[in-house]
Amino acid sequence: MSTTKHVTHWINGKPFDGGAAERQGVIFEPSTGRESGTVDFAGQAEVDAAVAAAKAAFPAWRDASLSQRSRVLFRFRELLTQHRDEIARLISAEHGKVVSDAAGEVARGLEVVEFACGIPHLLKGGFSENVSTRVDAYSILQPLGPVAGITPFNFPAMVPMWMFPVAIACGNTFILKPSEKDPSASIRLAELWAEAGLPDGVFSVLHGDKAAVDGLLHHPDVKAVSFVGSTPIARYIYETAAQNGKRVQALGGAKNHMVVLPDADLDLAADAAVSAGFGSAGERCMAISVVVAVDPVGDELLAKVKERVAGLKIGPGDNPESEMGPLVTRQHRDKVASYLDSGVEQGATLAIDGRETPVLGGGGDGFWLGPTVLDHVKPEMDAYQDEIFGPVLSVVRVGSYEEAMALLNDNPYGNGTAIFTNDGGAARRFQNEVEVGMVGINVPIPVPMAYYSFGGWKASLFGDSHAHGMEGVHFYTRTKAVTARWLDPSHGGVNLGFPTNG
Ligand code: NAD
Repeated sequence: MSTTKHVTHWINGKPFDGGAAERQGVIFEPSTGRESGTVDFAGQAEVDAAVAAAKAAFPAWRDASLSQRSRVLFRFRELLTQHRDEIARLISAEHGKVVSDAAGEVARGLEVVEFACGIPHLLKGGFSENVSTRVDAYSILQPLGPVAGITPFNFPAMVPMWMFPVAIACGNTFILKPSEKDPSASIRLAELWAEAGLPDGVFSVLHGDKAAVDGLLHHPDVKAVSFVGSTPIARYIYETAAQNGKRVQALGGAKNHMVVLPDADLDLAADAAVSAGFGSAGERCMAISVVVAVDPVGDELLAKVKERVAGLKIGPGDNPESEMGPLVTRQHRDKVASYLDSGVEQGATLAIDGRETPVLGGGGDGFWLGPTVLDHVKPEMDAYQDEIFGPVLSVVRVGSYEEAMALLNDNPYGNGTAIFTNDGGAARRFQNEVEVGMVGINVPIPVPMAYYSFGGWKASLFGDSHAHGMEGVHFYTRTKAVTARWLDPSHGGVNLGFPTNG
C-alpha cells in the first residue's frame, strides 16, 4: 500500500521540526480501506514545546486590544469561507463523510468564528456607580492563559471550532489535540490562522493519542481543558484535569431518542428519522439512534422509513451522488455491525439489513455498512444500552407518552432529543419534563446556534459548562471584581468594621 502524506504537529506558527517522531499513527481512506498517510504522535517533549510556545505567546496576545483580536478573527473568517470546500475534501478523505456534509460542518464551525468576531461586545463587564458614597464597583473578564482542546474524530473541523475561536478571542492561547484518525483539517486551520495574522504560538496543534492527552492534563502551565468525545474518556479527562487543578468542560457520548406521537405528521417524522439516523453514517453525537413510536404509529412509520431508506445512495464521500459514506475505521465498522447479530439474538427484528446495501462503485475494501433498522428493540438489549455510533436505527414501541418519557429519563445519556407532534401542549410538556440538554420540536438534530451553547446533561456532560455561546466566554475567562474609590476630601479615618455600604 502506498503512503502519500505525512501529518506533523504545528507549534509556534509553523510545522514542528522536532526531528524524527518516535511514534506515528496510520491514516486510512475509509472508502477504499487504503492507508493514505501517517501522523506523528506527540510525547512529552512535543507537549512541552507546544505549551512553552503557548505560554510565551500569552502575555502579548492577552494585551492585544479587542480591536486587534477581532480583526484577526474577521480575517480568519474570510479565509475559512474561501477554503471551505478544500477543508471539506480533506475531512471527507479521512473521515469518510460525503463532501457536502463535511462542508456543512465547516459552516457550523464558521458560525462560532462569527460569534467570536463580536468579542468586544461579549467581554463587557458590569459597572455600578456609587455602590457606596463615591465608590464604584465593576467586573472585568480576563483570559486564563494556555488552554487545551481535545476533540473527537467525527467532526474534525466543527468541534475544534466550538472551542478555539472563543478561547482565542478571549485572549487565551490554545493547543488543539485533534483525533488521530483525521488530523489533516486541523493543520489547514492552523495555516489559515497564520495567514490571518494570528501571532505565533497562539494556536498550536499537537497530534497523538493518550500520551499527548496525558501530557496536557498533567502540565502545570495548561490552565483549562475542553474535551469532546466518548463518555468513558470524558469522565477520565474531567477527573484527571480537575485533580490537577484545571478548569474543565468535558462533553461525552449520546443516545438520542426521537419520540413520535400518534398525531405527528408521519411523512415529516420518517424524513427526519432517516436524515438524522443515517446522515454522516450515524457518526454524529446528535444522530437519532432510537425512534420511540407511540402506539399505534409503529407499523406505518416503519413502512415510511423503509421506503426512504430504499432510495438512499451509499458511496465514496467525493462522489457527488453519494448521500452516505463509509464508517471511519474497519474496527469501528465491525463493532457497529456486531449489534445486528446481538440485536437479533436478543429478540429484535432486522427490518433493514445494511450489510446487504449496494455501494456506488462497488465499495472495494472500504469500511462499509449501509443503513440498518432494528425493530421491536427493548431497553435491556445491547443495541439499546450502548452508544452504537453508526448507521443503526432502533425502533422501540411504547403504549403512551408517559412510557416514552420514562424511557428517555431512565436513559443514562442526555445529549439531544426530539419530539414529533402537532400538539403544542404535548410539545411544551415534553420540553419541560425531559432530562436532556438539547431538545428539538419537529426538528431532529437540534444543534444550537453559535450564540447559544451546545451540551448535554447526565452522562453526556462532565463539568457544568457547555460549549460556545456565553457559556464558552465564561469558561475561557475569569472574572475580577473591582471596588474603587478615588481620594477626595470625604476620605479618611481608620475603621476596623466590615465594609458596609453607606
Ligand atoms: P474518543 O473518546 O475515543 O476520543 C476523543 C479524543 O480523546 C481523541 O482526541 C482521542 O485521541 C482521545 N482519547 C482516546 N482515548 C483516550 C484515552 N484513553 N486517554 C486520553 N485520551 C484519549 O471519541 P471518538 O471515537 O473520537 O468520537 C466519538 C465519540 O465522541 C462518541 O461517543 C460521540 O458521541 C462523542 N461526541 C460527543 C459530542 C458531544 O457534543 N457530546 C460531539 C461529538 C462526538
